[in-house]
Formats: sequence, structure tokens, C-alpha cells
Amino acid sequence: MSPPRVAVIGGGVAACSLAHGLRDSLASRAVSLHVFEMGRASGGRAATRGTRDDPGLRVDHGVPAFAALTPEFGALCESLVAADVLRRCDGDGSAFGVLRSSGTFEAEDAAGAPTRYRPPVGKGMNALCDGLLGGESTLANFTPSTMVTKVEPVAAQWRLTSKGGVDLGTFDWLVVSSTGLAHPRWRTTFGGEPPLVEAAAALGDTALDATLAALVPLQSKPAAMLAYGSDAAAAWASLPFFKAQVEADPVLSRIVVQRVSQSLTAVVLHSTHEFARSAAHVYGATSTAARIAGAKSDAGEEGRILDAMLVAAEKRLGGLLGPAAAMRSPAWGPHLHRWGAAFPDAPLLPEGRAVVPSARVAFCGDFVEGGEGRGGSVEGAALSGLRLAKALQREIGGLCGAD
Ligand SMILES: Cc1cc2nc3c(=O)[nH]c(=O)nc-3n(C[C@H](O)[C@H](O)[C@H](O)COP(=O)(O)OP(=O)(O)OC[C@H]3O[C@@H](n4cnc5c(N)ncnc54)[C@H](O)[C@@H]3O)c2cc1C
Repeated sequence: MSPPRVAVIGGGVAACSLAHGLRDSLASRAVSLHVFEMGRASGGRAATRGTRDDPGLRVDHGVPAFAALTPEFGALCESLVAADVLRRCDGDGSAFGVLRSSGTFEAEDAAGAPTRYRPPVGKGMNALCDGLLGGESTLANFTPSTMVTKVEPVAAQWRLTSKGGVDLGTFDWLVVSSTGLAHPRWRTTFGGEPPLVEAAAALGDTALDATLAALVPLQSKPAAMLAYGSDAAAAWASLPFFKAQVEADPVLSRIVVQRVSQSLTAVVLHSTHEFARSAAHVYGATSTAARIAGAKSDAGEEGRILDAMLVAAEKRLGGLLGPAAAMRSPAWGPHLHRWGAAFPDAPLLPEGRAVVPSARVAFCGDFVEGGEGRGGSVEGAALSGLRLAKALQREIGGLCGAD
């Protein structure tokens, strides 16, 4: 008998953690997992951006480093450190702190800081999802550059179709790892009914309807970013931090300085949620939403937003960085990338609603509240994927056990 087929929409931290949690079941062929991701690779908001112009340039344009507060996630991170997928941020040029309104940098007190992780030197944050998926020998069937735009209940199974109209097959279970497919914001971004809402109307499953209703009030705080490689790498690299919160600024919330090589430093500016909200109609021409899904972007507006972010950075970093020329003559970029949903905001989806056996639908992602209070973080996403692995093993009879 062929194993139950599980389709996963999205290939971010939550989906890859699900694959990691199911690795024994995948190895024994007790289940077959098929991950569809609209981006070019795994990672989602924990992705690394590259450019054909300079193969050496990597920019972690979403999460640059993350904290582990729970023992379960801490243990997973330590196993990934041992496998050279992550490194601990302790004293290796990973200084964290605050850029005060006065323009001075104040490093955080290391004694009170959480354990944080980032990719090893020479790797990008995409190493995390690649490592969770199992690297080269991955047992999850991972299909990149494939946006799922239609899900249909057909004879006790789910049929998936891609944006290009390609039939992606039928599956026994459907896992949704991004709210997009089920949330009203689909209407404003892409037009039409959210695909899962349309499918639920045909299915008439009251438990699924209740879960979808619980997702409606979920809001997301947006964030904009810009990144660029710079000839003035040495000047940027000499800044005394890796990641700094920007104190009391209407435009910028964080500045992240990634030392890529001796001659290249990538800088990512994160806007405040309020600033990103004022730019809600602009995604950035090179964002996945614009490239793959056809979300609109306006070049003039992009220029205005980039300019406002650069001016704010010049103002705050002037005393530390020297001449503004370092900011105005990047070797690559600046590029704007507005995340439609950077950080989910309460009310998150309660864990009790995340698995709907009657409809064979389940949700995982940082928008699911598992009781640890880690929603909206890499940790929250990973824990939700690991929890779902256990739940699926319980739900789908015959799967080999996981601890
Ligand atoms: C700028 C920024 C800074 C951040 N900083 C931090 C930090 O310092 N610390 C921290 O812990 N967290 C941080 N986060 C949050 C963290 O990145 C997320 O919580 C985490 O990566 C979420 O993982 P996920 O798997 O739940 O969702 P996602 O990463 O969003 O994964 C969902 C995936 O689904 C894909 N997808 C969506 N719709 C479809 C479709 N129809 N078909 C196919 N694929 C689809 C998407 O492309 C995406 O890859 C930050 C996020 C951003 C944006």
C-alpha cells in the first residue's frame, strides 16, 4: 500500500521543521511529504537573497539572527550547531544593542541576553531550512518556484493546482504554512477569494469553517527593508554592531550589518511597522510577491521609500560611519522588499484549531499560538512545525512513532 501523501504549502521554518519532525516516518516511507514553495528556495522569511551579478553576495533580508527561549527549540538549535548549520552568537562579531537618538551605540548586557543563533561564517540564513529539510539527501519532496493558487476537495482527497494551471496531484492531507491562502488579505493582494476559503465553502466542514473564522482577525505587522553591498565595506564593517535596534525613529526600527567578505558588507535597514504600513501598496519590484504572484509595485514610490530610509540611516549613523557617500554609492542595490506579513499580531490561531481531522487540513507557522508565547518568531514557527509532526503521526494511522 502506498503511504499517505501530505502536501505542504510553503517552505519556511515551520514547514521545514515539520519535515524534520517527520524524518523517521519519511525514512521508513510511512508517509510521503510534498512541499510546494513559491519562492526560489526554502526559507520564507528566513531566506537568503543572492544576485547573479555577484555570486559571493548573500543578504539575510528577513530574520538575521534569532533567539531560543524554550528547552525544546534550544536542543534543536544545538543539534544544528553540531551539524554546522548554525552557530551561537557569542562574541564573534555578533554584537547586539541599541542605536540611541544621540547617535551613539549601546551594547546590550551580555549577561541578560538570550541565547541567539545565526548561520556559520560563509553561509546565509537559508542554511537553517536546508538543514532542517536534511540537506542534499532530503526525503521531503521540495518543489520551489511553485505558487499554489487552487485547492479542491475531491473524493476525500485534496487536489492542488499551481498559478500556471499545472495539476500538482492529489493528497490525503493538506498542510497550510502561510496564512495567505486562507486570509482576507488575499483579496487585496491578488484578487478573488482566498483559495482555502473557496474550497471550504464547497466542503461544508464546520470545524474547518471555525478555524478559518479564527484566522480572519489575525493582523500582520509589515516591515520594509533595503539591502546593499558596498564598496565602502571597511567603513560599514567597522560599525560596532551586527544588529542594532534604532531608538525612537519614525522610519527605522533596526539596522543589520552583515560582513560577507573583506571587500563586501551587506546592510539591511528594517523600517518601523508604521512606516511600512504607510507604504502598504508597494512590495518592491524584486520581491517574491511581485515576481511570482503579480503583486503591484510602483518604481516612483519605491524610490521615495528607499530615499526616506537612507536619509534616516544617514542621520542616525552619521557620527559612527563618516561621510554619507558610503551610503549613497552601493555596489548592489539598494533594493526595497516589503514583507506583506513580517510579524503576525494577536489574536494568533489557537493551537486547538490548528489540526482539523474531519477535513484533513492542518496549519503550522509562526501565526499558531502553542502556549509558549513565541508567536511571530523563528522559534514559534519551528515549534509549531514540530508539534504538527507529532499530531500528524497520531492522526494518520500506521505512521512510525516519533518521540
Ligand atoms: C524583516 C524581518 C525580520 C525578522 N526578525 C526576526 C528576529 O530577529 N527573530 C525572530 O525570531 N524572528 C524574526 N522574524 C520573523 C521570522 O522570520 C518568522 O517568524 C519565521 O521565519 C516564520 O516562518 P514560517 O515558516 O511560519 O513562515 P514563512 O517563513 O512566511 O513561510 C511561509 C512560506 O509559504 C510560502 N507561500 C505562501 N503562500 C504560498 C502559496 N500560495 N504557494 C506556495 N508557497 C506559498 C512563502 O513564500 C513562505 O516561504 C523576522 C521577519 C522579518 C520579515
